[in-house]
Parts: sequence; structure tokens; C-alpha cells
Amino acid sequence: MTFNCLPPTIVFQEVPNEISLCFSITGCQVGCKGCHSTELWNKNFGQQLTNTNFQQWINKYQGLISTVLFMGGEWQKNALIEKLILAQKQGLKTCLYTGENIVDEQISKHLNYAKIGKWDPDRGGLNNPDTNQQFIDLTAGNTLNHLFIKEGIQHVAA
Ligand code: SF4
Repeated sequence: MTFNCLPPTIVFQEVPNEISLCFSITGCQVGCKGCHSTELWNKNFGQQLTNTNFQQWINKYQGLISTVLFMGGEWQKNALIEKLILAQKQGLKTCLYTGENIVDEQISKHLNYAKIGKWDPDRGGLNNPDTNQQFIDLTAGNTLNHLFIKEGIQHVAA
């Protein structure tokens, strides 16, 4: 099993103090009201991300990035885990942005960071102290929301 994704981009703010190669996976079924990324709802949108393609992207950006970030993809658990393992084997950190409130344990053991929680337009994103979303450093076991508030980072849909 695999999934489709948009062409990956390098991002600087989504994971604090890391340079991340960001893969936005299509097929999100969370259905947040006010979602800014509804193009990610259609699982047929984008290009197939096989392990081979993923490795090619890593090779292209190796040395420039410190982290691989997945916006979604938890709905294809095995496909996601395979790529997290590939990334970590090459010395990269890993992060998942999910609209769910919990991350499957089999996935989280291959993650350094996770952002959890639906997008709620009344409570805003990580830059809002009232947000329902949490950015978690899974290695340290604490949340890092304060870093987003200080730096004024805007919500990025997962
Ligand atoms: S999880 Fe992200 S992409 Fe999915 S519906 Fe919610 S805001 Fe949109």
C-alpha cells in the first residue's frame, strides 16, 4: 500500500529549529471545518509516493535538511512507517502533522515530533494560546507550543 502526495517542499517554521522536507499526503478524512487544504482530501490527487520515490527525494536534499515532515498519511500506517524508518536510518528526524488527537503507537515510535488536533477556526493554530492543537517533542515528552507563540508561526494544515 502507498499514498499520493504533492511535490515536497523545504519548510523552516513547521518544526522548530529544524529544516524540514515536507510531504503533504492526500486522502485526509478528518474533515476539519474551515480546512485550508481541501485539495488534500482527494486521495487520487498528487503523485504516488513509493519508497523508491521517497528515497530519491531524500537523496536530492540530503545535507540540506534535518527533518522529514509528513502532513498526514497516518491513514496508510504501514506506508508511512516504512518511510519514517528510511528517514531515521539516514540520520534524519521525523515529524507528523495529524488532525487526529492521538498518534498510533506503532507510528509514534518512529517519530521525533508530532502535531496533533483538528483545525478549529474558533481556537486557531499553534500560534494561538487558546489552540486545541499540540506540538509534541516525543523524545523529551513535552509540548513545544510556546515556541510557536513566541515566533508567531501561523497554522499549517496537516
Ligand atoms: S487534518 Fe488538515 S488537511 Fe485534514 S481536514 Fe483537518 S485541516 Fe484539513
